[in-house]
Amino acid sequence: MKSISEFKENMMIEEKEDLNCLKFTPLEKFGFIRHGFILGKKDGTGINSSDIPELISIASSIPEEKFRVVIPKQVHQVQVLSFKEKMQEKIIQMEGDALLTDQDNLFLTIQVADCLPVFLADPATEIVGLAHIGWRGALSGMAEEVIRKFKEVFNAKPSDLYLAFGPSIGECCYKVSDDLAVLFDEKYIDKRGTENYLDLVYFVKDKFLKSGVKEENILVFSECTFCGDQRYQSYRKDKEKAGRMVAFIGKIHTIG
Ligand SMILES: [Zn+2]
Repeated sequence: MKSISEFKENMMIEEKEDLNCLKFTPLEKFGFIRHGFILGKKDGTGINSSDIPELISIASSIPEEKFRVVIPKQVHQVQVLSFKEKMQEKIIQMEGDALLTDQDNLFLTIQVADCLPVFLADPATEIVGLAHIGWRGALSGMAEEVIRKFKEVFNAKPSDLYLAFGPSIGECCYKVSDDLAVLFDEKYIDKRGTENYLDLVYFVKDKFLKSGVKEENILVFSECTFCGDQRYQSYRKDKEKAGRMVAFIGKIHTIG
């Protein structure tokens, strides 16, 4: 079994009104960031896209009228959206699976249930980002494309970047077919009898390291959404009944 350092001491789950929200304490310490990973409502019901601004408002303690929100239509492709100008719309909906911005008071969001949510924060340039990475995006070069855009569009350095990996399906439970397993180097596949289990987190982390992110700047919260805390939503476990969890991050300066 491969081991990835766990940073459980760097996590906290906040209960606010009727929702549970997980936060990485090192990201909050940067000061310019508000972020969270909304696990869902306490009654176990899922999250609708139309609820997202209100949920972020509760989780971040910022009134809805003070921010704008990007809610992408996720298409499992390598599409990184960059926001470098003040947006006029209250809610921005575009196709994409990763988001970057240097704009104040703009919350980026992605929705996941087993796929890997990656939070990005650069304290040097105050760029924030989010990526939604499943096996398809991982194989197609999502991590590399996020770093390429981060460098080219924002003129920023990967060595300054901090990453936080939120909960996703772990190698313990991520059974994949033979056809899929052969697409990955065998070090990312755990063979158990005739079955293959994919370590998506290990694969994606390696891609970011090769792209110039420092190992000590990557926080991994490796709890599995399938067999871990019952509050997680898992598409593989619950199929169509599964709700989505919402990751959000924003650069928040001007709110007094
Ligand atoms: Zn598991």
